[in-house]
Amino acid sequence: MSNRISRRGLIGVVGASTALAAAKAPAIATPDADKVGFAVVGLGKLSLGQIIPGLKVAKGAKLAAVVSGHPDKARRVAAENGLPADAVYGYDDYDRMAKDPRIQVVYIVLPNALHADHTIRAFKAGKHVLCEKPMATSVGDAEAMIAAAKAAKRRLMIAYRCHYEPLNLDIMRRLRDGSLGKTRLVNTTMGRQADLAEPSDAWRLDGLMSGGGALADMGIYGVNAARYLLNEEPVSVRAWAQTDRTDPRFKTTEDLIDWQFRFPSGVIANGSTSFNYAPTMGYEVICERGRLVADPAAFYGGNRLTVVQGGQAQPPLSLPPNDQFAREMDWMADVVRGKAPMVSPGEEGLQDMKLMKAILDSVARDGATIATDWGYRRAYDPAVVVDLPRSA
Ligand code: NDP
Repeated sequence: MSNRISRRGLIGVVGASTALAAAKAPAIATPDADKVGFAVVGLGKLSLGQIIPGLKVAKGAKLAAVVSGHPDKARRVAAENGLPADAVYGYDDYDRMAKDPRIQVVYIVLPNALHADHTIRAFKAGKHVLCEKPMATSVGDAEAMIAAAKAAKRRLMIAYRCHYEPLNLDIMRRLRDGSLGKTRLVNTTMGRQADLAEPSDAWRLDGLMSGGGALADMGIYGVNAARYLLNEEPVSVRAWAQTDRTDPRFKTTEDLIDWQFRFPSGVIANGSTSFNYAPTMGYEVICERGRLVADPAAFYGGNRLTVVQGGQAQPPLSLPPNDQFAREMDWMADVVRGKAPMVSPGEEGLQDMKLMKAILDSVARDGATIATDWGYRRAYDPAVVVDLPRSA
């Protein structure tokens, strides 16, 4: 039994502090032949820049196939990664994966509006699915994806990389141990400048393809962060938008959205997102006796934490470089092997879909309060179950 299995076996029968200590056990590398095979669907920026490189350094996951609408690109990427010619798929022969035992997990990295259909087809082919955020473009599609996973008896994980990212885990643990006193306020700011001339932004600015512009693309990090930082679910939200309809980028989506969640503990979480402000992926958490400033909090690397206590900022803390995509995919591989709990299931993605809809409903009603307690509670707190790398 590996350290990982025995550690996870502890959780639920021991106190959180014991589990936190045990959670530092390192991941064990798996021989290549025993790694879980991933098919990467959609060879765009994220797949080529982060996911395929992440699979090269993953300990328990490996690239087994690529799926693309551009055969030349797909053949080149396959060759560069040592895949045989028959591990290249198109969207039309996607269902052939059912007969391919090399593939256990299908990783959906397509524009948001295509997530649901390709996820459901992957389940019909008998595969497990890791799906990028946001999981879909409507609550109904997200529910259909969860139902398809259940019908196929396969696992659906949403790619919330911050649940597996060491600095975010470190911050969650600081908040859980209460050393700064009770948490009072969270502020999240997630946005950037979008460029219509950039193909991967063009679909993000299209309401039907993205399901909500900046909110669906960037704001979702703030919605999700407020929930994992606090480990509770909001009971209501109010939101406002400011959108310049003469700006050609904002024909079908809102631009600047600002919202305010209220949590059962009394914490208030403010969030904002925009595709027309300077790039930021940061948050701050204000507690009774100190402030945690994570800026950036959700970049692919270089995330940094400043702890402010007694009005004094301590030297910024950065953790040693790590590949958070590899960590996330290794987690999925362990879920499939039955060695790890499902930390970011479809239901976690569905909760964000419902909350983003509530934000847009409030925007449409000029900041009306929308009740948001639909009963969802996460099964596993990442702060308790997800290990930190050995060097962190
Ligand atoms: P890109 O636009 O760069 O890539 C999407 C790819 O999807 C395309 O390259 C194309 O691949 C394929 N595709 C199939 N049909 C279409 C279509 N109709 N229009 C456009 N592309 C199509 O997007 P990203 O890689 O940046 O984003 C993909 C997903 O990953 C999104 O859901 C996004 O939210 C998520 N994401 C998550 C991040 C994270 O940190 N977790 C960061 C960035 C994105 P091909 O040519 O091979 O068919």
